[in-house]
Amino acid sequence: MTYDVIVAGLGAMGSATAFHLAGRKGLRVLALDRHHPPHTLGSTHGGTRIIRETSFEHPRYVPLVRRAYECWRRMEVATGKRLLRVTGGVFIGTRHGTFVAKSKESADIHKVPYEILSPAEIRRRFPAFRPDESAVGFYEPGAGVLGPETCVQACLDYAKRGGIDVKFDEPVTRWSVKGGGVTVTTPRGTYSGGKLLLAAGPWMLDTLQSVGVRVAAERIVMHWFAPSPPPRATSRSSTWRVARSHCGSSDPTRPSRHSRSRTARSRRRFITAASPRRRTRCVATSARTRSRRCAQC
Ligand SMILES: Cc1cc2nc3c(=O)[nH]c(=O)nc-3n(C[C@H](O)[C@H](O)[C@H](O)COP(=O)(O)OP(=O)(O)OC[C@H]3O[C@@H](n4cnc5c(N)ncnc54)[C@H](O)[C@@H]3O)c2cc1C
Repeated sequence: MTYDVIVAGLGAMGSATAFHLAGRKGLRVLALDRHHPPHTLGSTHGGTRIIRETSFEHPRYVPLVRRAYECWRRMEVATGKRLLRVTGGVFIGTRHGTFVAKSKESADIHKVPYEILSPAEIRRRFPAFRPDESAVGFYEPGAGVLGPETCVQACLDYAKRGGIDVKFDEPVTRWSVKGGGVTVTTPRGTYSGGKLLLAAGPWMLDTLQSVGVRVAAERIVMHWFAPSPPPRATSRSSTWRVARSHCGSSDPTRPSRHSRSRTARSRRRFITAASPRRRTRCVATSARTRSRRCAQC
């Protein structure tokens, strides 16, 4: 079969691409995934993802995120699903750390509304937290959350309705460039395309290595803690993040679904210290990977 575009990988990136391509009339598109998304084996799962305009990584991301807000709203209209919830977000770092300083820098450059909160102010406005005096809060009223599984499902449903060939459990095993187009091989057949979009997340390691780009997959472990007693309504209604380091390398073909209990214990200690009135119980754990450019390259 011949297509204009072939999309390989249908997590957050590939499914959103399929959504946008579905809106283009006359384009023949094939979208493939090695599993059946949304699934729990890549990076796009776990119930929630934060969206915020500012970025502690680099101010250049702010215009991109602004465009993402617009695109999510367009997707909501097209799919009839509520995807983005603006909750406001509190991001807690330390006075001498870079997390809040860099967020503030990007907000100042791009004129994003924010407030800097003292530890006392964090305790007053977000009573679930009891940060010590070294903490500093960055409150962003425009921050919010998206449900990754709902978003992927909504994008893929829309893509199918728009005439895109969506195929699951069909991994791209080989691809090559030939005469201005691409040939893609899977266990079920061979497809030709004008363009190939690779959106294989942490599986990109092998794919990109073949064209000379080296990436590393970094393992990020999530823990879900059930607070006891349950948080008050005021603290439930905000997105939050506490800056903590995470690191580790991972082989995405053999992801461990369980983190070591040492990691869970250390996080529980941290949460309990930040919120001493609560007892916490780890209710679930999940290890996922995300790809990023290898720091040594
Ligand atoms: C723990 C954690 C927390 C995060 N928090 C946030 C957050 O709060 N806010 C935010 O914006 N971002 C966050 N991110 C980042 C965000 O989740 C990822 O950037 C995003 O999910 C990546 O999506 P993806 O499509 O690139 O990869 P994936 O979701 O991993 O999708 C890749 C897909 O490719 C498929 N695939 C792989 N190989 C092949 C092949 N050969 N052929 C066909 N298909 C293939 C896989 O089955 C998979 O479905 C977080 C990430 C993690 C891990």
